[in-house]
Amino acid sequence: LEHARARRLTPAHAAALLPQRAADAHKGTAGEVWVIGGSEGMSGAPAMAAHAALRTGSGLLRMIGTGEPRPIDPEVITARLPDWADLEAYRADRRPDALALGMGLGGQAARVAARVLAWARPTVVDADALTPELRGLGHPGVVWTPHPAEAARMLACPTHAVLADPLEAAECIRAAYGGTVVLKGGPTVVAAEDGTWVNPTGNPGMASAGMGDTLAGVIASLAGQGLEAAVAARLGVYLHGLSADLLQPERGYGLQATEVGCGIPRAWRALR
Ligand code: AMP
Ligand code: MG
Repeated sequence: LEHARARRLTPAHAAALLPQRAADAHKGTAGEVWVIGGSEGMSGAPAMAAHAALRTGSGLLRMIGTGEPRPIDPEVITARLPDWADLEAYRADRRPDALALGMGLGGQAARVAARVLAWARPTVVDADALTPELRGLGHPGVVWTPHPAEAARMLACPTHAVLADPLEAAECIRAAYGGTVVLKGGPTVVAAEDGTWVNPTGNPGMASAGMGDTLAGVIASLAGQGLEAAVAARLGVYLHGLSADLLQPERGYGLQATEVGCGIPRAWRALR
């Protein structure tokens, strides 16, 4: 990918972004992340995001949905809301450090996302929540994580136009929506206020269900640990791809998204 302004992420750059934790850290300082999503038959997507966030080091995870949340980790706290309108009441006296939103959420995703974006907290917007209704609602804490088809929906253009120039597409989404844009693919592109970055990690073994949900959890976790959203996006895509690259020799094309989540600590160690 050649581009005048795009920079390639390097191991040294990514390593310098890793959060450092004080010796007296506790779960209240390591970040509370909320995963908002899931619906009937789509309970796995938010569960994979929550799993990856735990493996990235979050102090506390909540999964919130209108279907029965089905975490794959016993550490996760769940809340089943009668209706999405009850989200405000649920939040009332709580303060998430970061959120990941949209995985498996279904048809009401745009309404729910607009509500959550108004909270002005660090938020990863993924999957069903990546809709044109949210144009202009991004703030500096927002990371949009479309794959090419979702990017095409956001830009109201054909997917082949996104694939023809991913750097341009990512920058156009950023200009129209605000915040930071992670346009996923081989390679993934990050368009942020400080410029556009190309991620060198990742491999075609990642072409399987749940990989994007896992990435959203990694980025939300890093944002919840205090990294600026744009920094969390850069480090998140690098770690997520590196985890998959370290698994590639043993898994090839049989790599599962949950394994990429499990491998985040190994990628972290390799990078440090
Ligand atoms: P999603 O389509 O939302 O599940 O996201 C897929 C994830 O896997 C993204 O993080 C992509 O960057 C990654 N991925 C998929 N295919 C490849 C590939 N061929 N090379 C590198 N990364 C890939
Ligand atoms: Mg996805």
